[in-house]
Amino acid sequence: MGVTRKDALRILGGTGVAAAAAALTPGSAASASGEEASGVIRRDVCVIGGGASGTYAAVRLRDLGHSVAVVERAGRLGGHTETYHDPVTGGTTDIGVLIYHDMPLVRDFFGRFGVPLVRYTGQGGTTNHYVDFRTGQVVPGYAPPPPAALPAYIALLQQYPYLDQGFELPDPVPAELLLPFGEFAVQHGLESIVQLLNGYAQGLGDILRIPAIYVLKNVSLSVMNSVLTGSLLITQRRNNSELYEQATTFLGGDALLNASVTNVHRGPRGIQVRVDTPTGPRVIRCRKLLVTAPPLLSTFDGFDLDATERAIFGRFRHHRYWTAVARLSGMPTGVSLVNVGADTPYNLAPLPGWYGLTVTGVPNLWGVKYGSEGPMSNQAVRAAIVADIRRLRTAGSYPVELDRLEIFKAHNPFELVVRPGDIAGGFYRRLYGLQGRNRTFYTGAAFHTHDSSLLWRFTEELLPSITA
Ligand SMILES: Cc1cc2nc3c(=O)[nH]c(=O)nc-3n(C[C@H](O)[C@H](O)[C@H](O)COP(=O)(O)OP(=O)(O)OC[C@H]3O[C@@H](n4cnc5c(N)ncnc54)[C@H](O)[C@@H]3O)c2cc1C
Repeated sequence: MGVTRKDALRILGGTGVAAAAAALTPGSAASASGEEASGVIRRDVCVIGGGASGTYAAVRLRDLGHSVAVVERAGRLGGHTETYHDPVTGGTTDIGVLIYHDMPLVRDFFGRFGVPLVRYTGQGGTTNHYVDFRTGQVVPGYAPPPPAALPAYIALLQQYPYLDQGFELPDPVPAELLLPFGEFAVQHGLESIVQLLNGYAQGLGDILRIPAIYVLKNVSLSVMNSVLTGSLLITQRRNNSELYEQATTFLGGDALLNASVTNVHRGPRGIQVRVDTPTGPRVIRCRKLLVTAPPLLSTFDGFDLDATERAIFGRFRHHRYWTAVARLSGMPTGVSLVNVGADTPYNLAPLPGWYGLTVTGVPNLWGVKYGSEGPMSNQAVRAAIVADIRRLRTAGSYPVELDRLEIFKAHNPFELVVRPGDIAGGFYRRLYGLQGRNRTFYTGAAFHTHDSSLLWRFTEELLPSITA
């Protein structure tokens, strides 16, 4: 054929083992990119969802010589990572994922795409005011209590080191981890840090009611170590989306954006994924499937789930989280508002409601964070945000005017959880038991917690099973 091995490798580039084999097999209609004349895309692994976990997995699978196709419902990779670009000042502000742990794997991932990281030192020069957003009034005399219970909390986390790794829980699961966090906090004298933990556990729902395990997994030993050693990282250009833009370029045609799965059939001879894309329907044939989208039953519409998979995923319910960027006039520069309840336990702001209105570092722009346990339409949340900002003025607290919400984003479904009885009954053992079943693997926040760095580590550790 006149094609040397070197030529073949150059042509095949990073397309991976199966695609390479298919392209070199006499009589195969597959092209070097793993695409057949019929339009069928052949890949080693099809990744469903291109957020933090899916993008990381796809990039690393390519590194390891495996071909991938990423099916992402949105028009971009990144999931909960999103950056607002201010046309007025040219500044940027991350309205989703903000900070990362200083781990070699995190530095490598950003480093390979040329996205510099720096230490996160907080929003310099910012002052917090404590406001009850239900009334729009500053809560007189409120200040967060000194975090006297932090050492006790860290000692508890050290008692449960496996929580930092995933959901490999002992049997039986320690009963106290299944208590509502409010009870757990009283039992361990953590009252002084409940408000502080609530600030980290945004989007998780009412932290006094949710099982303690979800709080301990989210405000984890890794988080505590990073905070106390001052080692958290942030992107130098305050633009986390750059990582995903670079990854999109790297993945090229392997990232199918605005794509929705219509059918998945997992048979003994391989997996077929049918996808609707902006350029028409496509068929992906692959050896393995990696699901990174939130594993609610609704995500699996069109999948050939078996009864076991259906029963497990059917247990999940989820909480809700929204973010926005508000352009304000009259708001004092450098002032962030933390929503606290004037008359609530631990002064926690009731949900649905705000977490806070936060300085972004971009003039006139403040970040909005809003949560709810129960269903709430985007329209209702938007209306509540607008009304609550206006109330800050009518209550006489701040001479603030809302010029407009520049961007409003629903990060839903957020924080998939199951009931304590399910956890005690071995839910997570059964969930993890699905890894590899029907040639399907899983990663993402439901399999660990909402922490990109820890999810990348979790995903990295899953790769040997996927590539085996
Ligand atoms: C406002 C906010 C702030 C946060 N701040 C931080 C932070 O500072 N640091 C941190 O580490 N973490 C932070 N997080 C947590 C963050 O959610 C996780 O770190 C991480 O994004 C979760 O990754 P994932 O891959 O599980 O989900 P995602 O990143 O959400 O990815 C899932 C992807 O699947 C896609 N999808 C969904 N359904 C389908 C479908 N049916 N077919 C195809 N695609 C589908 C979605 O569009 C999405 O792109 C924050 C989250 C939010 C919302």
